[in-house]
Amino acid sequence: MRLRLSRLHHPVTALGPGRRVGVWVQGCVIGCPGCVSRDTWVAGPHHDVDVDDVLDRVAALDPAGLTGVTVTGGEPSEQPEALAALLTGLRALGAGHDWDVLCYTGVELDEFRARCPGAYPLVDALITGPYRAGEPTDLVWRGSANQRLVPCSPLGRRRYAPWVDARRDRPELQLQVDDDRVWLVGIPGRGDLARVERALQAQGIRLEGVSWRP
Ligand code: SF4
Repeated sequence: MRLRLSRLHHPVTALGPGRRVGVWVQGCVIGCPGCVSRDTWVAGPHHDVDVDDVLDRVAALDPAGLTGVTVTGGEPSEQPEALAALLTGLRALGAGHDWDVLCYTGVELDEFRARCPGAYPLVDALITGPYRAGEPTDLVWRGSANQRLVPCSPLGRRRYAPWVDARRDRPELQLQVDDDRVWLVGIPGRGDLARVERALQAQGIRLEGVSWRP
């Protein structure tokens, strides 16, 4: 099974509870104005990877040190079969370690269930709805006030119910660096990206090719 993949990050601590693996899928046709992940919108053949290869990369991490996996993007519901295969494999890897699966989607709950009948039962919690730049929020792990955190399974209800209406008291952003890129992982609040850019400029670092500008 092939998956259109943008990237993996680990450890992710800004998109869900605990230490997580983050899987960014590639491809989204929703096109929310102000999306900070514009780099994940357009999918090409070079994004295709075997789900088994993704699972091998996750398996190489310390499973006991993980709380779960966060799937985001991009729009996971645009790849329903690949998403189901990915989640099936992730659940097998996390068996015995109490991993949860949190999945972001830009569509509402009913639409996600209709699009992803195979993947939905494998999800412990969803964050649903498009990003709306005009509806800022401080709800944890959400970019705009319309987005809902929906616990979907017994584990999801146990782990995520306390967070449904919880609010963050500081920005949920991580910086991760690989060979030639700096990745911002998390949910920037209003003005956070401009502040990061100004702080880097003050150090003589100019950002090019940022994902949040066309
Ligand atoms: S916020 Fe999510 S759903 Fe909206 S355009 Fe960006 S990747 Fe797509």
